Amino acid sequence: PDPSSQLACDIAGNIAMNSGGAHCLKYGVTTNNLLGVTMVSMEGEVIEIGGAYLDSGGYDLLGLICGSEGQLGVVTEATLRILPKPEGARPVLIGFDSNEVAGACVSDIIKAGVLPVAIEFMDRPILEICENYAKAGYPDCEALLIVEVEGSPSEIDAQLDVIKQIARSHDPVEIREASSAEEAGRIWLGRKSAFGAVGQVADYMCLDGTIPVSELPRVLAGIKTISESYGLKVGNVFHAGDGNMHPLIMFDANKPGDLELCEACGTDILRLCVEVGGCLTGEHGVGVEKRDLMGAQFTDADMEAQMKVKDVFDPAWLLNPAKVFPLASSRTRRERGAAA
Ligand SMILES: Cc1cc2nc3c(=O)[nH]c(=O)nc-3n(C[C@H](O)[C@H](O)[C@H](O)COP(=O)(O)OP(=O)(O)OC[C@H]3O[C@@H](n4cnc5c(N)ncnc54)[C@H](O)[C@@H]3O)c2cc1C
Repeated sequence: PDPSSQLACDIAGNIAMNSGGAHCLKYGVTTNNLLGVTMVSMEGEVIEIGGAYLDSGGYDLLGLICGSEGQLGVVTEATLRILPKPEGARPVLIGFDSNEVAGACVSDIIKAGVLPVAIEFMDRPILEICENYAKAGYPDCEALLIVEVEGSPSEIDAQLDVIKQIARSHDPVEIREASSAEEAGRIWLGRKSAFGAVGQVADYMCLDGTIPVSELPRVLAGIKTISESYGLKVGNVFHAGDGNMHPLIMFDANKPGDLELCEACGTDILRLCVEVGGCLTGEHGVGVEKRDLMGAQFTDADMEAQMKVKDVFDPAWLLNPAKVFPLASSRTRRERGAAA
């Protein structure tokens, strides 16, 4: 799935979180590339799910395992799809003078039916920090998109023609198409350094709410209003093509109360994502951080059904027992497991 954490993460972690990344717009997330797993239950049973080809025999439980945040069993082996390498790839950088216009451009590219491998979004706070750090030579603008397409040279030209035409209709500050591997590298340089660059200048909390792409302009405007109301700086750098937002809320961990302010700001932003038809997490999972927000997206009956699935795979609730579900909802089950 090409996660930015690829130097540090492993395949089992990708499966547990159903990870995505810059190139999942075209290639899908982990679940779209997983054919089978071997999983060991907490009772020591070895379970084979899926197999070496699509649509293996038995119940189709792969989707249940992928993204289950290590709650159902320990994955020990995985069979993955292998894809042919594309003939070539080329990115184009497009600068805009407003976040909302850049968001509308993303929405129009998707509506036009072109399928880039990546559409990455960076707003001004992120651009300034990245430019100071990586010196990628990005234009002076409010929002920047990096759109990359793949294929033969003629396929690339045809796709980029459509994308550039759509971009022009949104009055861009600059359109810069890579004409060599070196230029392509420079276009990606700032984006690839973004998280590290922000970490050099501030403490930050990275959110992961995911929204319908058509709601990007509204949600970007909403994030601005929310962050201003908390007096915190928020930078946006994310996989815009599939609506997976990563607002980075910057705060000062040494300032009493700032972390709590940052968390409250994050809660409001995630609630907004759910309100517009999105969800709390695209790829980072619910874990501990978002367990108390599950009620914003799911009813009690939904969560009860999800917990019943865990009852089947892990009756004693030993695997990541305090993650994903609000503690009050899972208390009886966790206490029953601890007493057993
Ligand atoms: C800087 C940074 C950038 C990131 N960028 C991305 C990104 O672009 N896309 C993305 O999707 N995520 C991203 N992440 C989040 C995270 O790295 C990914 O979700 C990654 O897939 C987690 O894998 P891991 O090996 O690090 O798992 P861990 O963090 O070690 O574990 C994650 C979960 O998987 C469970 N688990 C681990 N091993 C197993 C196993 N064998 N069987 C069952 N459960 C298991 C753990 O219990 C835990 O709940 C980023 C994180 C950071 C810090």
